Amino acid sequence: MAIRKIIIEPDPTLKKISEPVDRVGTEEQKLMDDMLETMYYAKGIGLAAIQIGVPKRIVVMDLSKDEKKKEPMYFVNPIIKNKNQDLSKFEEGCLSVPNQFVEVSRPSTCEIEYLDYNGEKRNLKCDGLLAVCIQHEIQHLDGITILRYVSNLKRSMIVKKLSKLKANEDRVVL
Ligand code: ZN
Repeated sequence: MAIRKIIIEPDPTLKKISEPVDRVGTEEQKLMDDMLETMYYAKGIGLAAIQIGVPKRIVVMDLSKDEKKKEPMYFVNPIIKNKNQDLSKFEEGCLSVPNQFVEVSRPSTCEIEYLDYNGEKRNLKCDGLLAVCIQHEIQHLDGITILRYVSNLKRSMIVKKLSKLKANEDRVVL
């Protein structure tokens, strides 16, 4: 396993539409292992492959609160079905938009169809944080981040801040 670099907004890569995976093989499993390790390292609860620069429709998540009891979840080619008409609001963060929180309204429940780590077809009913997180991650696969949900003014402020952050990150001290 390896920790990969997470791409931070603003970055055109995050706008890419990710491609469906033909079959889940060792390459995809290795990618999922890396994604999970990267997500744990960054202390996130969800990560889409495009956030480490891989345009494949793959998401990993772990919503367990207890660090000792990890509950990794893997979603390949996830599709949202049966969205609830009722929306619920949640303050969302994102590993690609560090230190920012954005209020987003999404269907409060939904059903997901996907392939798991072993390529088996599965269905999952989602509500609460699970519904929020999976919908957030699937939007990454369609090139959308939480910056979609803020005003133009707030977006430009956030982009300015993150650009500064990234410029500092690239600095090398010898
Ligand atoms: Zn995100």
